[in-house]
Amino acid sequence: MKTYKQILLEQKPLFLYILLIYAIAGTAVVFRKPLHGIFGEENYVTIHLVIEIFVAFCSLAIANQIWLSSKFKQNSKIIYTGALFLAMGILGITHAISYKGMPFFINESDSYAAGWFYMTSRLLFPAGLLAILVIKEKQISTAKRVMAYAGSFLFSVFIAIIVYWPSRLLPELIEEGGVTVLKSNLQTLAFILTVLLIVLLIKQIRIWPRFFIFMIAASLNLLCSDVMFVSYADVYDIYNFTGHIFQFSAYWLVYKSFYFFTVEQPFIALMNSNKSLEQKERKIKQLAYYDEGTTLPNERFLRETLNEQLLQTDSRKALIVFGVDRYEGVKNALGTVYADRMLEMIAQRVKEQLPPGYLLYKLPEDRFAVFIAQYETEQTVQQLIQKLQQTMDETLVIEHFTVSSALNIGVSRYPADTKSAEDLVQFAQFAAYEAAKKDDRIAFYTASMQEARAARLMLEHDLKRAVEQCELFVEYQPQLDLHSGTIHSAEALVRWRHPEKGLIAPLDFIPVAEESGLIIPIGKWVLETACAETVMWQNKHKKTMTVAVNLSIGQLYEKDFPLFVKQTLDRTGLEPSHLQLEITESMTVNTNLIIPVLQELKNLGVTIAVDDFGTGYSSLSYLKDFPIDCLKIDRSFIRSILENPDDEALVRMILSMAKHLNLKVVAEGIETAEQLDYLLKNGCDKIQGYFISRPIPYEAFEAEYPAIQQFADEQLKN
Ligand code: C2E
Ligand code: MG
Ligand code: MG
Repeated sequence: MKTYKQILLEQKPLFLYILLIYAIAGTAVVFRKPLHGIFGEENYVTIHLVIEIFVAFCSLAIANQIWLSSKFKQNSKIIYTGALFLAMGILGITHAISYKGMPFFINESDSYAAGWFYMTSRLLFPAGLLAILVIKEKQISTAKRVMAYAGSFLFSVFIAIIVYWPSRLLPELIEEGGVTVLKSNLQTLAFILTVLLIVLLIKQIRIWPRFFIFMIAASLNLLCSDVMFVSYADVYDIYNFTGHIFQFSAYWLVYKSFYFFTVEQPFIALMNSNKSLEQKERKIKQLAYYDEGTTLPNERFLRETLNEQLLQTDSRKALIVFGVDRYEGVKNALGTVYADRMLEMIAQRVKEQLPPGYLLYKLPEDRFAVFIAQYETEQTVQQLIQKLQQTMDETLVIEHFTVSSALNIGVSRYPADTKSAEDLVQFAQFAAYEAAKKDDRIAFYTASMQEARAARLMLEHDLKRAVEQCELFVEYQPQLDLHSGTIHSAEALVRWRHPEKGLIAPLDFIPVAEESGLIIPIGKWVLETACAETVMWQNKHKKTMTVAVNLSIGQLYEKDFPLFVKQTLDRTGLEPSHLQLEITESMTVNTNLIIPVLQELKNLGVTIAVDDFGTGYSSLSYLKDFPIDCLKIDRSFIRSILENPDDEALVRMILSMAKHLNLKVVAEGIETAEQLDYLLKNGCDKIQGYFISRPIPYEAFEAEYPAIQQFADEQLKN
């Protein structure tokens, strides 16, 4: 809230104006004697008339302005003020024309009529404004607006009739030698009312500081005029003239304040609202054509550019669309803020690499586009692709995490692939999608890609049905404990028997499930089934069996996931220590979010394993902060353990570090006796792989268990 000082300081011009008025008044007081009679009888009437015309003009102008500006918005206080000033304006005119020395009008002009017209008007000012300040503000009808003005007009006519009535109905106000006691008293009453008005105005100053300050200044001027009007010796006294100057000045200030209120201020408000409207329009346009995060032109911009360009020339053109590898992973693990940051960094790098004349567009999700408006040979396209790929040579550092990423680049060509802008965009996106599966991460659009995309959508549709109609089942892959030589754990792996397509591998449908959110119901079902079947198996064999269940990141983010695990254990009767949950290495990136969930799970008594270890981002050193029990070395390292010294070194390092960190190690994908031998010698805790057993349905796991164990015994003996 503004202080009084601030409010006053904002009105410097007003103070200069008031200073000027007081300088005039001061001069008049000091030089009262020599100035007495300066205008003389002859000139005095004209000078008075001029001043009064100004006063009346101000009043009528206020009335008029309020009348015009209240056409659409009829606020009671404003309308009544207008009506008040209409009456004061009319009384001002009658005062001027009836003034002593003016030509004959209805009767001989003398100070009787002029005095009463003045006095009525002078009393109306504070009394009327006081009343208006205290009444309640409300909206009034058009009819009331007319009635207020008409009433005010009739009131002035009524006063005129009384004053001009042939036999004088009212006492005299001015006599030979000065004002009467009645005039002095009425002037004092006006003075007191004006002081009251000033107090009320000061109280409300904060509502419209400028308006009220002007009104206060005007009222003060009127007070000064009162002092002058009771002190003059005769009408030729300079005090009378100064009183009129104060009076005029007061009305001028009131006029200014209403001008501000009814014209200037609404105009400024209109200007401001226009300005903000313009800003909003600009913003809407910005939003419509530019991406908010990267500020790059967006897909709509691209489509419109393509539509224009394709029409212009028939030269060969190409559209490159690229997606960002690992974007989903970063988004899931670190959250959208960091994922967006990743996109911004990539956008910046690509912009720096693009040759002049090329524009980078941002498409939805993690995709970008570059349009080649004309090219002669494929080499131009290839060179640009190379440049794009180079932008990812250096790893990205996002919030202390170093992420190596790549661009999956798809290209569609005009007119070879299509002549429509719409298709050009879509085809390049299909190609980018396919590029993700290729080693060089580049794909030029071919007709089959459209089918691949359609097939994927179809798969998602079918998967939904699969969940509902129990087309899923779980297979178990035994794990051999190398210390005891027994099989007392197995990994549960989900399978999908599609009614038409037959068995579908998890690697083909788990990503679809993750993207579509179907992983949540699927994950729940697998956990429930694995726990229940393990209990069944234990009861049958009278042996303990631990089951390892794979988790997807979406499940860990699910609210109350640990609670669900607990309820599942309770429902199925599986001992918590007989359940191992497998998370993947990439899930360990978002420490803040994941650690508390893992901790809660561990508190239940289940164990946690990190699956596919060695393929993701994490380093062993910070795994020590994670509440985990076990590492599963990815089968890609085991595969070439005996041929590739790098892989061999890595596996050996994982084994020794795991020992230091007190973690168990499971080696995945053991397919040969040599691999088993190596792991046995190097102190690996458990192995899992086709060599011992493929994943098998529950019934087979029950029936074949003794045989599998026997095979393992034989292998370990050799
Ligand atoms: P994973 O958890 O690493 O599972 C091990 C994968 O390696 C399984 O493939 C298994 O059949 C395969 N495997 C085991 N031994 C050998 C071997 O000696 N040689 C070779 N070449 N492969 C071997 P599968 O069943 O196709 O599963 C693939 C991935 O799908 C799993 O990798 C896991 O990440 C995911 N997955 C499977 N079931 C589920 C599930 O219920 N939920 C979630 N979220 N993911 C699952
Ligand atoms: Mg696994
Ligand atoms: Mg694995």
